[in-house]
Amino acid sequence: MGIKFDILAKDGQARAGVIETDHGEVHTPTMTVNFTPALLRSGLSPNQLPALGVEMILVNTLHTMMESKQQAPDIHQLLNWSGPIFADSGGFQMVSLAKKMRVEKDGIKFNWDGIAHKITPAQVVEWQKKMGVDIIMPLDRVWHLRVKNPLAYFLSVLTTEKWFNESAEISPNIFYILQGGLNKLARILSLKYANQHLNTGVAGIAIGGLAFGEARPKMYRMIEFCTQRLPENKPRHLLGVGEPVDLLESIERGIDTFDCVSYTREARHGRLLTKHGYLRLKRSEYINDNSVIEADCDCPTCLAGISRANLRTGMKSIDSDIRQQTLINLMLHNIRFTLRLMEYAREAIQVGKFQEFKQEFLISFRAQ
Ligand SMILES: [Zn+2]
Repeated sequence: MGIKFDILAKDGQARAGVIETDHGEVHTPTMTVNFTPALLRSGLSPNQLPALGVEMILVNTLHTMMESKQQAPDIHQLLNWSGPIFADSGGFQMVSLAKKMRVEKDGIKFNWDGIAHKITPAQVVEWQKKMGVDIIMPLDRVWHLRVKNPLAYFLSVLTTEKWFNESAEISPNIFYILQGGLNKLARILSLKYANQHLNTGVAGIAIGGLAFGEARPKMYRMIEFCTQRLPENKPRHLLGVGEPVDLLESIERGIDTFDCVSYTREARHGRLLTKHGYLRLKRSEYINDNSVIEADCDCPTCLAGISRANLRTGMKSIDSDIRQQTLINLMLHNIRFTLRLMEYAREAIQVGKFQEFKQEFLISFRAQ
């Protein structure tokens, strides 16, 4: 059937909508949980996610394909998740695994477990189709923002466009990925390509090439630069952004969906999201603190009454099972906090009070 997107309410540029997929609805704005192999190994089950407000998960195409020896598994069956699934393209791994990868004109060469592989844009899309993902990401060419040569950003736009055109036939579930870093001219070229493809049936847009440590105002301005030049009626995803403040600033500028590993990574370091900013569990002030992470939180960890002191001890336990369970408890809290923030944002847009909600949240979150 492909993707159907309806905007239910707008407040300024912020939108509340619903994406319909073959595996159910996704209410936006929202965050997808990146179901990385590390998350799977941590013992967190996808069954625990709907209770946290998660409607869509993200899988890593490259990892899934390599770990299944390139036999495209039925991804819904493999993860025991019946809801919508969003795939990433593998483009981001080019940056994160830069030393192990070589980009060629027609694809990427890389080493996996000591074995040389090459993937092409057509393969990436074909794998995702076979896996049965609901939102397909084509292979894109990402360039780290540390690269100062503007030509690099044009090259990333041109390569991403070339690869998109090589991604077999266009699937009604495929998104187009915008590249161009912080370079406006490169972004304009990328937007021109994107709008051409949107006219011929591309399902939505993903904004890539941001959130590499640039100053936040620059990132926000570039998000707005892009969303102002995109049609209203297609969903917009922002790749790799998940900090609460960034989420609200991006929603304000017309972004609908997000994916990020920050809330799970932060949990690993004992950094917990609260409406008064991050609670750093490793601090000694929590040694004897019998309160839960956040008093009015409805996550399974806080509802079970597990205290800060207990969680702090659990993090440092010599028993690896206890450490593991503690990590899951911390992740459940951070994921729920983020999804609840999305729910509040959605409600605020629907009643035309997004600005007030955002300001109130920022004042409280930054107060510490
Ligand atoms: Zn909680």
